Amino acid sequence: PGPQKPADPTKKTIVVLGSGWGATSLLKNLDTEDYNVVVISPKNYFLFTPLLPSVAVGTLSPRSILQPTRYVTRHKTRAVSVIEAEAKSVDPVNKTVTFVDNSEIQGEVTTTTISYDYLVYAVGAEVQTFGIPGVREHACFMKELHDAERMQRQFMDCVESAAFPGQSAEELERLLHIVVVGGGPTGIELSGELHDFLEDDLKAWYPELAGKIRITLVEALPSVLPMFSKQLIEYTESTFKESKIDILTKTMVKQVKEKSVVLQRPDKSVVDVPCGMVVWAAGNTGRQITKDLMAKLPEAQNNRRGIAVDEHMHMAGTNGSIFAIGDCTATSYAPTAQVASQQGAYLARKLKQIAKKEDAEARLTQLEQERKNISGEENVVKLEQEIESVRKSLAKIKLRPFHYSHQGSLAYIGSEKAIADLPFMNGNFASGGVATFLFWRSAYMSTLFSLRNRTLVANDWMKVKLFGRDVSRD
Ligand code: FAD
Ligand code: NAD
Repeated sequence: PGPQKPADPTKKTIVVLGSGWGATSLLKNLDTEDYNVVVISPKNYFLFTPLLPSVAVGTLSPRSILQPTRYVTRHKTRAVSVIEAEAKSVDPVNKTVTFVDNSEIQGEVTTTTISYDYLVYAVGAEVQTFGIPGVREHACFMKELHDAERMQRQFMDCVESAAFPGQSAEELERLLHIVVVGGGPTGIELSGELHDFLEDDLKAWYPELAGKIRITLVEALPSVLPMFSKQLIEYTESTFKESKIDILTKTMVKQVKEKSVVLQRPDKSVVDVPCGMVVWAAGNTGRQITKDLMAKLPEAQNNRRGIAVDEHMHMAGTNGSIFAIGDCTATSYAPTAQVASQQGAYLARKLKQIAKKEDAEARLTQLEQERKNISGEENVVKLEQEIESVRKSLAKIKLRPFHYSHQGSLAYIGSEKAIADLPFMNGNFASGGVATFLFWRSAYMSTLFSLRNRTLVANDWMKVKLFGRDVSRD
């Protein structure tokens, strides 16, 4: 890319909080000709979450699913300021954001406050623990890159400790029992990936242990994957049965201990089940900063699920100065990447329209002012013609509401099989199996943002086909 235009003090400033699905899609589509843009996120990259479970078992290397935010912003016509920092508070009245650098190495300045004209609030959500004892201390999450890396290390630690000579049969059984909590898509995909790792690699490298590894998926509701059709739920359950992954439905995790997990069974009896590792994939909740921001607008913001927005993604109670998108919002849509990225793209188009509208309004005010002072019939006619034409173009600018177009739900279930619920010719098309798996892969390949990431992921997949997954533990 060529040299970028510098920030322009006559333009309005958009501050974007976050560098995930919503924010990245916004940045990719935003015309920076119209605005000065500042991005603030504690991660200076975009994480491609759908492939995170593949990192947890070493199918993909972590860097393959990261894209530095600057890869997107450096292609913009006007330079975008990318700041690696965590926003700590938003003042919706004075329109400011305060953020801190809480990385390991810091400069002299670590906290600062900046003003915005428009704030795009896209900080996502955090893992929900429901206050269940021991979850934070003993379970692995599956939300951020470091969660996947930690899970991979911990899983291999379980296997290596089981290989340590002299373990009792009981201890072997414990160390090699992996409990996945949550039968939503994250828990299902992770269990499927763990099974693949076991079948494709561990059987060869640890033949004496592989047969003893057990995966149990625990779900509080009567069925897994409630967002998929009944047929695909059954297909997943039967695939898991063949894969020897136990599914315990109507079973609630009550506590996670260092060496076991406490389950409440459907008959309300409570059991302590020994295990080597617990993966917590039980859903998400709003971040503290989101709760604090909502508390500043108690009348407009009282939805416990998240930020209330209108159909233009305006945060209620902020007079159009804050837009909220993605997992931090409470809408009728599911908290998915698909929704967040469509909202980001929508907002980019909308901000373009807003800039056009504001330009036209400013021009109109200026012309109307000139009209008051101008003399000479010819000049007046000319000016009035121009005023009329600006009015017409203003009337043409339509700020349309957000419309979500569902492309379908896809999930990988292991054994080179995937399930897909696709909206198809006004009906639903449900498919499961190997062809769906190939579709799943190609769908993700085409949605991965850059050619660089596509190449890295394809390369990793090929490497695993040729050499298997890496079982070394760092
Ligand atoms: P995120 O993508 O989570 O981005 C939030 C951003 O805000 C991050 O960059 C974060 O670093 C930043 N941030 C956090 N705190 C602050 C702060 N204080 N200040 C500034 N920035 C902050 N959805 C699908 O549709 N299909 C899938 O296949 C799929 N697979 C998934 C697999 C996994 C393992 C997971 C965890 C999720 C998956 N999802 C999937 C869901 C999807 O990832 C989320 O719905 C999506 O990430 C939401 O986008 P977002 O922009 O709202 O939030
Ligand atoms: P989720 O909220 O969809 O599922 C969590 C599950 O955990 C729920 O079914 C809940 O009943 C269960 N649970 C909660 N507490 C429990 C407890 N104490 N004991 C036992 N079970 C418990 O969470 P997720 O799977 O992380 O998904 C989050 C969002 O991301 C969803 O919107 C999902 O659609 C999306 N996502 C989509 C994909 C995909 O499309 N392939 C993949 C991953 C995530």
